[in-house]
Amino acid sequence: MKLVVLPGDGIGPEITAVTMAVLDAAASRHGLAFEIEQHDVGHASLARHGTTVRPDLLEQVRRADGFILGPTATFDFKDEAKGQINPSKFFRKSLDLFANVRPARTYKGLKAPVGDFDLIVVRENTEGFYADRNLEQGGSEMLVTRDVVISLRRITRLCCERIAHAACALAARRRKRLTVVHKANVLKIADGMFLEICREAATHYPGLAVDEILVDAMMAHVVRNPARFDVIVTTNMFGDILSDLTAELSGSLGLGGSLNAGLAHAMAQAAHGSAPDIAGRDIANPASLILSAAQLLEWHGARRDQPRFVEAARGIDAALAAAIAAGHATRDLGGNLGTAAFGQRVAEIVRG
Ligand code: ATP
Repeated sequence: MKLVVLPGDGIGPEITAVTMAVLDAAASRHGLAFEIEQHDVGHASLARHGTTVRPDLLEQVRRADGFILGPTATFDFKDEAKGQINPSKFFRKSLDLFANVRPARTYKGLKAPVGDFDLIVVRENTEGFYADRNLEQGGSEMLVTRDVVISLRRITRLCCERIAHAACALAARRRKRLTVVHKANVLKIADGMFLEICREAATHYPGLAVDEILVDAMMAHVVRNPARFDVIVTTNMFGDILSDLTAELSGSLGLGGSLNAGLAHAMAQAAHGSAPDIAGRDIANPASLILSAAQLLEWHGARRDQPRFVEAARGIDAALAAAIAAGHATRDLGGNLGTAAFGQRVAEIVRG
């Protein structure tokens, strides 16, 4: 498997190094071969090349079987004319990675304050309330006067259809429950269309139970009884917010794995940001990126019909759960292991 690795900013390099050690262990356990290329993105690239993402990286990741993007300091990157491109947006948009798949589950060995659950948020990834991806040119936030701003939210039939089908297909392979999260009572036209399309898509998947919940009410439902949810489909920003909540309810934002998938490419990327407040201190939880990398292996194995990659992905998930159940944990999970030491425990279990 040809993999491009882009460690990113903040805690990115630390959690990426640990993730690569876990992949190395999975390679020896499952007889996989990785061909790895590593490149700078974010601040390191800006300092060295005058841009946060070198244009040739797009071709590199296109040629690869998948890539890993560490968290980047998106908040710092405000002016594209100065090379400050948001790497996450750049790859999601350029490669049309329309489905952001964010699983969240509770773990034996961790407190489950709202009870046990195992769900997946499927978030549309290419439009919605994201000012940097809605227009062919320019941002979709406008300063009308010094005191008035208009932000555009784009919702299209095509993007609704493909995310609805991705979520339905996933639910059909799991517990066959789909929850559509929307705000069609207020965003009557846009979310009305999203809801209609999800309803229609679900009719193509026999046996799928579908419910519909307003995004504000969803915040209460997911805290009250997360066990009732299996696959949740929603638009871009609602999914971004909801999946941080589900990751934290599972034990920590640091457990939030995430895959950005299109038809031909996929990018593993932790659900959280670059966490500059804890960067460089060997205290970040690397589980998010480890789980994201496992999702990438599973995607690749399914696409190329190579079951060993799917087995390796399951092995990594199981090893992480076993490490946590055995009491190994980073600070955010209530333990005292550093990033590297925790990753080493997971890698040892993966290796067997
Ligand atoms: P950015 O600007 O890149 O989004 P941020 O700090 O604003 O960074 P997050 O990185 O998502 O946003 O972090 C939110 C909070 O969660 C921070 O307090 C951070 O320390 C914590 N956090 C995020 N990721 C992890 C992790 N992997 N392990 C432990 N704590 C984390």
